[in-house]
Amino acid sequence: MEAKLGMSSHTTRQDPTPIEMHVTPRAEHSISRRNISNGALRVLYRLNEAGYQAFLVGGAVRDLLLGGHPKDFDIATNATPEEVRGLFRNCRLIGRRFRLAHVVFGREIVEVATFRGTADDGSGDRHLVDGRLVRDNVYGTIEEDALRRDFTVNALYYDIADFSVRDYIGGMRDLEQHCLRLIGDPDERYREDPVRMLRAARLAAKLDFTIAPETAEPFDRLGPLLGDAPPARLFDESLKLFLSGYGLASFHALQTHRLLEHVFPATARSLKSEHADRFRVLLERTFASTDERVRADKPVTPAFLFAAMLWEPVRAEAEALIANGTDAAVAWASASARIMAEQAERVAIPRRFAGAIEEIWVLQPRFEQRIKKRVFRLLSHPRFRAAYDFLLLRSAESPALTELAEWWTSAQTMDQQALAKAFVPQPPPAEDGSSVEPSPKRRRPRRRRRKGPPASEGSAPAE
Ligand code: ATP
Ligand code: MG
Repeated sequence: MEAKLGMSSHTTRQDPTPIEMHVTPRAEHSISRRNISNGALRVLYRLNEAGYQAFLVGGAVRDLLLGGHPKDFDIATNATPEEVRGLFRNCRLIGRRFRLAHVVFGREIVEVATFRGTADDGSGDRHLVDGRLVRDNVYGTIEEDALRRDFTVNALYYDIADFSVRDYIGGMRDLEQHCLRLIGDPDERYREDPVRMLRAARLAAKLDFTIAPETAEPFDRLGPLLGDAPPARLFDESLKLFLSGYGLASFHALQTHRLLEHVFPATARSLKSEHADRFRVLLERTFASTDERVRADKPVTPAFLFAAMLWEPVRAEAEALIANGTDAAVAWASASARIMAEQAERVAIPRRFAGAIEEIWVLQPRFEQRIKKRVFRLLSHPRFRAAYDFLLLRSAESPALTELAEWWTSAQTMDQQALAKAFVPQPPPAEDGSSVEPSPKRRRPRRRRRKGPPASEGSAPAE
């Protein structure tokens, strides 16, 4: 069975994984039940009292051992999903590809998985297509469950029966050495699920671990397999990469390991273009400020992030079109649409974000039009705030943009009269009065009527 798991001799790694359990007793590790959520503890105890094995597993054990405070807690057990449901009233079964029990305590959801086996019993419960794992519902032993997890440090089990930590594949040693090591034969495991390459980069970034050489070695060869990963899954993984508080480190890891080009091809291309330096500055500023917001528990939006990731590709394309004589508004709208369509082939960005992203882009050239009527109109635009925040991030692009950003910063704090006076020359007094007073409140109804579907918003700069 071990050979089947890719532990066979054709692998080049020094295999640290004979299946021999190592137990770290309660007194010798730092996991305290105080740092485990009430919901997770209740599920663990209940399963155990009912005579089942129950372990905390995965990222929570890893992070607790490293002194972190995990937000979600995964549990592994030898009870089947149906048996788990029998024990908890507040339980529902989810997932087809990977069947799980969710036990719900108010806002907390505790995920309970039955040990996964590794053998294909021919029932179709474990199903590979072209080496890809599309269904994984064969139950097995804890040893087998450990082997089918992704990284050694993710395969540690905290046993609620005696509070010890079980290690079947050298996860403890790798944890101490800050090493992220894929379990099994790397080629086989990445072919089963190419997203594991992104998980490697993300976890190395989050934990500040080094990726073991044999774990990183296949990236260049197998990275293109990410092109076949489901775009919806890549969207979820992108959010984990960039909106979990380690976005800047994740971005650097994706670049170091040459994985960015498989998920964000246009971004990677622009990072090699003549404007690479200023684009890199924009991205680093975006990730750093997003990380800060996440850590301060402030809201963050994926729209802003994707707007930054694709900004230079869109800008370059719009400017090339304009240089060829295309009308500016048309150029911005068509560049936005094309870059979004290209990105959608890799990462499925939900519609509600796609519209916001395109608005942030097409509002950028409008900041340059400091004509009174347009200034008031832009200030009352529903997407003004996001577009202005984006302008601030861009302001390092050039001294002229820094000045422009400062102008818009003060435009917001000035009272309406003072702002109106800041424009020269002033139109006749009567008109003047009416254009000062009404914005932004009285303009809104008009804007609303004018607002059409995202495509028509896309032509905003020409107004
Ligand atoms: P974090 O929660 O910090 O993102 P995590 O390791 O907990 O990291 P999850 O996505 O919550 O990541 O997965 C929980 C556990 O499930 C992992 O620790 C790992 O053991 C297992 N796992 C997740 N994804 C895979 C995968 N693609 N292949 C194999 N095992 C996986
Ligand atoms: Mg987790």
